[in-house]
Amino acid sequence: MAYDFDLYVIGAGSGGVRSARFAAGFGAKVAVAESRYLGGTCVNVGCVPKKLLVYGAHFAEDFEQSAGFGWTLGEADFDWATLIANKDREINRLNGIYRNLLVNSGVTLHEGHARLIDPHQVEVNGQRYSAKHILIATGGWPQIPDIPGREHAISSNEAFFLKELPKRILVVGGGYIAVEFAGIFHGLGADTKLLYRGELFLRGFDGAVRKHLQEELTKRGLDLQFNADIERIEKQADGSLKVTLKDGRELATDCVFYATGRRPMLDNLGLENTGVKLDKRGFIEVDEQYQSAEPSILAIGDVIGRVQLTPVALAEGMAVARRLFKPEQYRPVDYNMIPTAVFSLPNIGTVGLTEEQAREAGHKVQIFESRFRPMKLTLTECQERTLMKLVVDADTDKVLGCHMVGPDAGEIVQGLAIALKAGATKRDFDETIGVHPTAAEEFVTLRTPVAG
Ligand code: FAD
Ligand code: NDP
Repeated sequence: MAYDFDLYVIGAGSGGVRSARFAAGFGAKVAVAESRYLGGTCVNVGCVPKKLLVYGAHFAEDFEQSAGFGWTLGEADFDWATLIANKDREINRLNGIYRNLLVNSGVTLHEGHARLIDPHQVEVNGQRYSAKHILIATGGWPQIPDIPGREHAISSNEAFFLKELPKRILVVGGGYIAVEFAGIFHGLGADTKLLYRGELFLRGFDGAVRKHLQEELTKRGLDLQFNADIERIEKQADGSLKVTLKDGRELATDCVFYATGRRPMLDNLGLENTGVKLDKRGFIEVDEQYQSAEPSILAIGDVIGRVQLTPVALAEGMAVARRLFKPEQYRPVDYNMIPTAVFSLPNIGTVGLTEEQAREAGHKVQIFESRFRPMKLTLTECQERTLMKLVVDADTDKVLGCHMVGPDAGEIVQGLAIALKAGATKRDFDETIGVHPTAAEEFVTLRTPVAG
C-alpha cells in the first residue's frame, strides 16, 4: 500500500524533532504535527527558559559577593517584566530556528493537533494523512493532585508567564522542578517556602547530596518545610491565598506552585483507535526498540516515562530514525551512566550510582568525600560549602558514581560522565593531573576514603 509518508511524527519537541530530522536526512518522507509550540517543553516551558531564570536569580549573590572584591554597587533593583520579556524574545528566536531546522531538512510541518484515526492514519486540522510508521512524541504535562482549591494553584507552565513576581510563594514538591524554582523565586527576592511531603527532598539522589543541599538552601534563607502537605487552598477577599496543611497549620501566600510530577500527554490522541497499550503508570508501553503494542506505532521521550530528560528524548529519537531508515547505523540507547544536573543554587551534578544504590546492588563500596569553601568565596562573607563525593567499588576499583553540590556542578559532571562511561577506576582519577586552581580538580585529589 502507498502511504502519504514513511514516518509521521506527533509532537515537535526534543524527541520528535530529532527523529523527524534524522529520518528525513536518511531519505525518508517525513511529516511532523505540532499543536502548541515548536521545540516542545524543553524550549518553551522547560530547560531553556528555566536556565535563563536561574541565571537571573544568580545575580543576587554575585552583587552581594562583589563587595569582597572591592566593588561598591548602588542599590540593586530587579524587574521581573524585563526578564520575562527578554526570555520570551529568546524563546521566539528558538521557535524560528526549530521551524527552519525542520523545513530545511525536508520535513513537512503540520501545525495543529494530531489524532490517530487507525494504526496508519492521523488527522490534523480536518485532513487525514497516512504513514507506514507513526511516532508518538507528545511529551508530558504537569500533574496537580486533586485537592480542594487546586484551581488557585499554578504549575511550571504558568510560572514562566506570571505578570508579576509574587511577593510570597509556596512551592510544593521535592523533585527537580520544585527545587529549581524555589531557588529561582528566592533568588529573585520572593518570600519563598518549599513544602515537601516526605522527610527529605530529592528522593533517589545520593543521601549526602540531599542533606548538603538542604543545609545550603537553609543557610541562604530558603524556608524548607518537610513532612508538610496541603489539604486545601482558599482564595481570600484581598486576592491572597489561605493554605491549610494536613497537620492543621495555616499559611498565607500569594501563589501556590505545584511541581508534583508530570503525566504523559495523551489528551484526545485517539489511542483507542489503535492497539497501543499503556503501562501501570499510564505511560505508553514500548519494547526496547520503542515499538508499542501496535506494530506500526512507536513512542519515545516523556510519553514513555523512562527518563524524563531532553538528552534522553534526543537519543531515543535518533535511535528510532536509525532503526527504521538506517539500520546499519542503529545502536540501542544506553541508559547507564546518564549524567544529570539540578539547577538549584548551588547546582547538583551527578552521574552513576548513589552510595545507597551501590550498597543495595551488593557492591563493597569505598566513599571519598570532600567539603570545602570555594575559593571565590574566601574574600566574601558567604559561608557556602561545596560537596564532592565519589562512590568506588572496593573490589574492582571502578568509580561507580560521582556527585557534587556546588557552583557549576552541572558543567563539571559532564566530563566525569565520559570517564565513568569508559569504565574509569579510582586509580585513573588519581593519575589524572588536576586543573589548578579549580574546584573540579578536587575530583582527582580525593585520597582517603571516609567510609568503607
Ligand atoms: P516534549 O518536549 O514535551 O514535546 C512534545 C510536543 O508534542 C509538545 O510540543 C506538544 O505541544 C506536542 N503535542 C502533544 N500532543 C500533541 C498532539 N496530539 N498533536 C500535536 N502535537 C502534540 N530536561 C533536561 O534534560 N534538563 C533540564 O534542565 C530540564 N528542565 C526542565 C524544566 C521544566 C520546568 C520541565 C517541565 C521539564 C524540564 N526538563 C529538563 C525535561 C524536558 O523538558 C523533557 O524531558 C523533554 O522536553 C521531553 O521531550 P519530548 O520530545 O518527549 O516531549
Ligand atoms: P519529579 O518526579 O522530579 O518530582 C515530583 C515531586 O513531587 C516528588 O518530590 C514527589 O514526592 C512529589 N509529589 C508527587 N506527587 C505528589 C502529591 N500528590 N503530593 C505532594 N507531593 C507529590 O517531578 P518534577 O515535576 O519535579 O519534574 C518532572 C521531571 O522533569 C523530572 O523528573 C525530570 O525528569 C524532568 N526535569 C529535569 C530537570 C533537569 O534535568 N534539571 C529539571 C526539571 C524537570 P515523592 O518523592 O515523595 O514521590
